[in-house]
Amino acid sequence: MAVPKKKTSKSRRNMRRSHHALKGSAYVECPNCGEMTRPHNVCGACGHYKDREVAGVATAT
Ligand SMILES: [Zn+2]
Repeated sequence: MAVPKKKTSKSRRNMRRSHHALKGSAYVECPNCGEMTRPHNVCGACGHYKDREVAGVATAT
């Protein structure tokens, strides 16, 4: 089994972990109702996506 030759210092360990922080999730304003929603997702408040109503509507034709 491969074994590290030297103990990783706290400094080296923390430098490695400097990229590990989580970012907050992205939000965009709904163009229909102004509610903050995730991008590329249907608005939970009004059911619109890209200026169209898509949730809860069965419009054939
Ligand atoms: Zn909306």
